[in-house]
Amino acid sequence: MGYEWVVIAVSFGLATGIIGRSKGGSFWIWFAIGTVIPLLGLIAVILFRNEVNEPERQCPQCRKVVKLYVQVCPRCGTELYLPDPSEVRMPPRPGDRP
Ligand SMILES: [Zn+2]
Repeated sequence: MGYEWVVIAVSFGLATGIIGRSKGGSFWIWFAIGTVIPLLGLIAVILFRNEVNEPERQCPQCRKVVKLYVQVCPRCGTELYLPDPSEVRMPPRPGDRP
């Protein structure tokens, strides 16, 4: 555990934080994860997908709420085309305060 290790850990923390922030997460949370568990934290943030922040819309047939990128409704099998912008809504982000 020397000075080099600290530099490596902080470098991984920075990379992890920047990637995490670009995916809608908190820079400091991912920075902490990347610093405490370098490499593993970086792999985690690369695999991490913030589903919560994907836009959603309702299936016109069964009203099931699905992600915008879903092309066939998983409940009723209806093919879903690009909806009116008014039907698309962004779910609230857990980190946002009113
Ligand atoms: Zn449906």
